[in-house]
Amino acid sequence: MIGVVSDPLFMNHDTGSYHPESPLRIQFIHTLFARKDPEILLVDPVQATPQDILLNHEQYFIDHIKRSCSSGKLTDLDPDTVCSADSWSVALHAAGSLIRLVQMAVSGEINGGFASIRPPGHHATADEAMGFCLFNNVAIAARKATQSFGVEKVLIVDFDVHHGNGTQESFYAAKEVLYFSTHQYPFYPGTGRLSETGAPGAEGSTVNCPLGGGKTDGQYGALYRRVLIPIIETFRPGLILVSAGFDSHAMDPIGGMQLSTEGFASLAGIIRDSAKSVNAPVVYALEGGYNFQALRDSVKAVIDVMKGGKVPVIEEKPLPELDEIIRTHARYWPLQHH
Ligand SMILES: [Zn+2]
Repeated sequence: MIGVVSDPLFMNHDTGSYHPESPLRIQFIHTLFARKDPEILLVDPVQATPQDILLNHEQYFIDHIKRSCSSGKLTDLDPDTVCSADSWSVALHAAGSLIRLVQMAVSGEINGGFASIRPPGHHATADEAMGFCLFNNVAIAARKATQSFGVEKVLIVDFDVHHGNGTQESFYAAKEVLYFSTHQYPFYPGTGRLSETGAPGAEGSTVNCPLGGGKTDGQYGALYRRVLIPIIETFRPGLILVSAGFDSHAMDPIGGMQLSTEGFASLAGIIRDSAKSVNAPVVYALEGGYNFQALRDSVKAVIDVMKGGKVPVIEEKPLPELDEIIRTHARYWPLQHH
């Protein structure tokens, strides 16, 4: 049984008429769950408590977001991040719903989870809202898992086209939370260099895979098989959180990658099978993805794989960046040179 949070409530975070991070993203995904599916448990959204948000954010920052929302009109938090009257409640529901799915997954109530939530989270730092993100949902859920749910080690996999600077920063010195990211580079937000591998004492717990634009399914597949699988087998996380950004889709108006819908299914297959080998539940949290159709199709493809569906076979293709990525991370992980 796969737990899914999908609710029109997440449309209430108003970003204005022309913002790519549109409420319609939620509406498109929500159509996938109109018909009852015996393999999917629809889980009601719940609000995170202020204490939960405080696990990853500063009190003065939380107060600032609350104040900005309560002004009642659209307020710019940074040049591309806005909040509205309902954003406060929606943001609490985004983090809280992800926490709920994590709790259910860790306790075995569900075999995995998918949170169709917004605002997204991976750019939000402890004290800064940026890149369409208010609170860092994945970082909050990872901290909740280690501090309250008895999970010793968490792996965060981030396939959003952008680097999750906020998530990296939160866990840069944390050995128990490993952050793995594939992202377009150079690109917004500018972080995610290969050389950023973790603070002293936590070397190797940040695994950046910066990639030039235009990368395809076969190239991503080669990277995930040769780098992510050995890391999962060695790190042996008790939980895998996925920062699921679908702006690395070829149809996306913002990202410059060439992943197809089948490509996302194949990445989900690699994550599913590798997670199974270490007995770790996988919970996905929606991040980016701005072509509504591609977003809906890709979410469907990922959930079908989570339900045990067939994974598309995609032939690996040479990836120019792979040798240097392997050489860098082989200092900390048993990665094979060829
Ligand atoms: Zn993104």
